[in-house]
Amino acid sequence: MDIEDTLLMMPGPVPVAPRILRAMSKPMINHRGAKFSEIYDDCIDILRDIFKTNNDLFVLSGSGTAAMEAAIGCTIDKDDTVIAIENGKFGERFKDIAGRYGKVAPLEFEWGTSIDLGLVEEKLAEGAKAITMVHNETSAGIQNPAEKVGKLAREYGALFIMDGVTSIGGDTVKVDDWGVDIAVVGSQKCIGAPPGLSMLSVSERAFDAMEKDNLPYYLDLKAYKKSADKSSTQTPYTPAIPLFYGLQEALHVVREEGIDARITRHSTGAAAIRAASAAMGIAMFPDLNEDSKYSNTVSAMKSPEGLDSNDLKKDLLAAGIVIAGGQGRLSGKIFRIGSMGNITSRDILQTIQQLELAFKKRGLVHDVGPGVEAAAKILNIL
Ligand code: PLP
Repeated sequence: MDIEDTLLMMPGPVPVAPRILRAMSKPMINHRGAKFSEIYDDCIDILRDIFKTNNDLFVLSGSGTAAMEAAIGCTIDKDDTVIAIENGKFGERFKDIAGRYGKVAPLEFEWGTSIDLGLVEEKLAEGAKAITMVHNETSAGIQNPAEKVGKLAREYGALFIMDGVTSIGGDTVKVDDWGVDIAVVGSQKCIGAPPGLSMLSVSERAFDAMEKDNLPYYLDLKAYKKSADKSSTQTPYTPAIPLFYGLQEALHVVREEGIDARITRHSTGAAAIRAASAAMGIAMFPDLNEDSKYSNTVSAMKSPEGLDSNDLKKDLLAAGIVIAGGQGRLSGKIFRIGSMGNITSRDILQTIQQLELAFKKRGLVHDVGPGVEAAAKILNIL
């Protein structure tokens, strides 16, 4: 299958619209000149509305993990304690990063199960400099209660560092209202840009907490602030200029759609996938409690008895559609469909149809059609 004909229905990288790809082929410019400042400022302007924040915002040349590491590396010193909430692969990543810089107080839940806010509060009461949480745990398709954790963090005086890598730009996030001190997003997810950039917001409290003398060098957020505060905005080191062109165009697409309409489109798309899974008799993977929700950007389903989800992935790939399997300990057991960025109803319906065909071929469903029909109803097509 030609890569130009392949549909990425995975939780990032997402398909990138031709106008965004074209934007990246413009000539290089002086990164210390007025044109670059203009592009950077334009991006920050739109990002402010997406993050819902008046905090400082920065764009790093590096994927989401770089921004996660910048957040921890700048605020956490070796004697500081970080509560790391984990209910999936990316919560585990935050825990591992925190362990490189400070002391970790892990708060682990079975991957795909909901976090217990009572236990979060107990840990916070023991004292910590920061608490990390993944808002949308991509590996498990579960949305964690960011607003409630933000409130608890404030109550107990801990910094709230939130991974919004697969929520910001596709789901409701209110950085200022929720008291998020550092919020992180990746370019290749809901924002619909190519991979390689990450963006983060940093509160004054978080800057005040950067009192260590051995700040990371490349990921030094104080250096980012100093460069951004110049009369003409800059980055401390050479930025990935073609990716900035792509990001700017992708953010224009977000602005044209409107962030509220974009969030509604994402939640409708995920609801359509869930309706299809119910119609096909395929169970959703996350185990929810009253504080958690199914993800609005990536849907995780249990692989039917006897089917390794890696084989299902191959069936879909043969039809030109890339879905994701399970990560780490979930490999083979679950499959995940990303519906983030600029994915359309047509993309979703096509994916569900191919899933139904794959299940039918394997004798796992009787008919092809119920899944597509259920999704089409949610998408307002039927
Ligand atoms: N956090 C979450 C929730 C993610 O989904 C991902 C990537 O899938 C990351 C962090 C890591 O981002 P990156 O691969 O851009 O470094």
